[in-house]
Amino acid sequence: MAKYSCDDAIEGLKKLLSKKGNLESVAAAKIKRLTDELKVTAEKPFNPVEKIKIGFTHFRKEKFEKNPALYGELARRQNPKFLVFACSDSRVCPSHILDFQPGDAFVVRNIANIVPPYDQTKNSGVGAAIEYAVLHLNVENIVVIGHSGCGGIEKLMSMPDDGTTDSDFIENWVKIFLPAKAKVKEEWGGLEIFEQCSFLERETVNISLSNLLSYPYVREGVANKTLSLKGAYYDFYDGDFELWDLEFGTSPSIGFSPSIAI
Ligand SMILES: [Zn+2]
Repeated sequence: MAKYSCDDAIEGLKKLLSKKGNLESVAAAKIKRLTDELKVTAEKPFNPVEKIKIGFTHFRKEKFEKNPALYGELARRQNPKFLVFACSDSRVCPSHILDFQPGDAFVVRNIANIVPPYDQTKNSGVGAAIEYAVLHLNVENIVVIGHSGCGGIEKLMSMPDDGTTDSDFIENWVKIFLPAKAKVKEEWGGLEIFEQCSFLERETVNISLSNLLSYPYVREGVANKTLSLKGAYYDFYDGDFELWDLEFGTSPSIGFSPSIAI
């Protein structure tokens, strides 16, 4: 993006230089120097360390140092109201799209925003996060956010039925959602693949909500009404966000029921 902007600027300045033949030599030299500087900027390779340094310096100066009350409190403890599951996709950062501030949400991100079923041998990473958030942080809401254009869901949709895989981990992970794929294929199999994926991206959120209920403390929290489970879908093509409640007591394969579309 930056490269295009610089290229555009360089092109504009070149045109200016060629048109303004009567510019004084000092002004022309300045424009030439600016052109050269822009060219250097445009050709500068990406520097990850620089990116991190600049980013953290900005955060520290503009946020950390300007909000001593907030960061002082957060240094002592955290009291998030939300546990959020979101995809690892770089475009769906929940803090960014929901404007969460530090301390607002305990977040788990993985391929295709999957909550696997309770299993102490296979899924201890996700299980530990749920256990900690519910039992120790006492979160009041768990939100699972699916999203448009999900690569994990595309992979699930394109997996051959014979179970063969071409990756070390990805298919084995997303196959947790195979029941949702079967449902979408059955109901929407006649649609284009991208449309089926769109249904599957939502349907899998409900599988995750259902799987949350396999964790005893989540089930208990929902039953006692101290914990609410919500499904969500972020569409980054249109900039839309849907939010719906888990219909407690219904089958996970019944489908989603968007209650709020923002
Ligand atoms: Zn994704």
